[in-house]
Amino acid sequence: MLALDERDAGCGATCAALERYVEAELRGERSGAWFEGVAVHLSRCTACRTDHDGLVAVTKGMEGRPT
Ligand SMILES: [Zn+2]
Repeated sequence: MLALDERDAGCGATCAALERYVEAELRGERSGAWFEGVAVHLSRCTACRTDHDGLVAVTKGMEGRPT
């Protein structure tokens, strides 16, 4: 078992913030305590990372061709 990282936002908070997180990530605005908490969680949770990757793909698709 992995020890719980105190910065880990957890599945609930990550799911709630995921849309905002992806928008910030795609803009290159990788800052803020909440952002780090979600980033830590995504590095540890396969289920949330899958949701994140899907949302990134959808968001990029809505914005047109990726650069
Ligand atoms: Zn999770």
